[in-house]
Amino acid sequence: MCGVFGIFGHPEAANMTYLGLHALQHRGQESAGIVSSDGERLYGHRSMGRVQSGFSPADLATLLGDRAIGHVRYSTAGGSHLRNAQPLGVDYARGSLAVAHNGNLTNHETLRERLEARGSIFQTASDTESIVHLIAISKKEQLRDRVAEALQQVEGAYSLLFLTERELIAVRDPRAIRPLCLGEVPSANGTARVVASEPTAFDLIGARKVRDIAPGEMLIISADGIRSEFPFAPESRKLCIFEHVYFARPDSTIQGVSVYEVRKAFGRRLAAEQPVEPGEGDLVVIPVPDSGVPAAIGFADRARAPFEMGLIRSHYVGRTFIEPQQSIRHFGVRLKLNPNRAAIEGKRVVVVDDSIVRGTTSRKIVKMIRDAGAREVHVRISSPPTRWPCYYGIDTPTRSELIASTHSVDEIRSYLTADSLGYLSLEGLVESVRAIEVREGDAASARPSADSYCHACFSGSYPIPFTPTAPARQLRMVSG
Ligand code: AMP
Repeated sequence: MCGVFGIFGHPEAANMTYLGLHALQHRGQESAGIVSSDGERLYGHRSMGRVQSGFSPADLATLLGDRAIGHVRYSTAGGSHLRNAQPLGVDYARGSLAVAHNGNLTNHETLRERLEARGSIFQTASDTESIVHLIAISKKEQLRDRVAEALQQVEGAYSLLFLTERELIAVRDPRAIRPLCLGEVPSANGTARVVASEPTAFDLIGARKVRDIAPGEMLIISADGIRSEFPFAPESRKLCIFEHVYFARPDSTIQGVSVYEVRKAFGRRLAAEQPVEPGEGDLVVIPVPDSGVPAAIGFADRARAPFEMGLIRSHYVGRTFIEPQQSIRHFGVRLKLNPNRAAIEGKRVVVVDDSIVRGTTSRKIVKMIRDAGAREVHVRISSPPTRWPCYYGIDTPTRSELIASTHSVDEIRSYLTADSLGYLSLEGLVESVRAIEVREGDAASARPSADSYCHACFSGSYPIPFTPTAPARQLRMVSG
């Protein structure tokens, strides 16, 4: 998964982009990059790792100009190498172009083969590069027409930002699978336009969210102002529901809907669908922090049981180079989470998390809670079993590694050593988001139907036909 940020018309464009990426860091920690422009040429810096460690004040000072785009990456296509870091930048016959992409193209291999057959030479293993080649070979005069022509040949999920010397173009795919929103911030030059994956990036720089970018919309931002076009055939909206489950920050809104409110609604519905006997005042609801917190609040509210911080999260977990010689069980999870005996001992514990992927974390958590003196451990998950890989930009393992694709709920319960295990139903998931979207939608036309969401990771119902292909080729050269 990735996060993108762009700004046009601000004297401190690179610094603002740095801050915007900082607020989007949860969307990818593998690499970060910024490309800016002063209207004459493009300036770029990319680095492996997090934004904070990848950009020094001296690096930022080289990124001149009043416009910039930035990217944080969590690789889904192409390996984890600096050469695959974004924004990708190229010089071609018509000038310079940089691109930042969140999503995943499903016809990437076919496109690449076609482009290579006609002579294109790829520099990276990333799917995004196909878009750059398609733009470069387009015969259209205007950049926006070349971008539109390129994207008309692309299938999959994309929230994209393009930067040239003169324009910033933002595009959201016709199904609006990944989020993208528009904002504005006062600047010495008047009003600067900002675009970001999530509005949390606006909060940090004092920008105001104007609106979500619509499905299939292309925004062209230049010194002449902002203009909106819809160059693609319309499709029905398929917003990724996993953004609401796990990916987006809880203080974000997606399509005007608070992620925090949605997660609490998941928790309330989960408590109704998968109740735990209240007992005699000895039941506590604890979240797996941070991902399970809002759902656990909703669960506790509905179950009328106290919400307690039964697991305490260390905020200083990075890589550790000191590992005990003698094996300490659960060492990895303990670095991040430690049970809080005062909240757990002698209690019947409901532990709420957003999802189970491989099941390894949940298994260790159940053991930790039991060892800390819990009498019973009931696991509740605020989404359905994750059974299918995502081809639209979320990094999920192959089917064989997803515990729910090969095991029944009761087999998973037994593997976790939990007293009970309950997942939210698919209907409960969709209806919880939809109820809030319908409440917030001001016009009947803006109200989503139950099939306005992509939930392929839970249902296997993929909105875009996809033929799995050979894994992406890895370039052997080591980039600097
Ligand atoms: P596990 O079952 O041990 O593989 O880990 C499950 C945990 O990983 C869940 O609690 C989620 O909060 C988190 N998670 C779910 N999906 C992802 C993802 N695509 N990338 C990173 N973490 C995830």
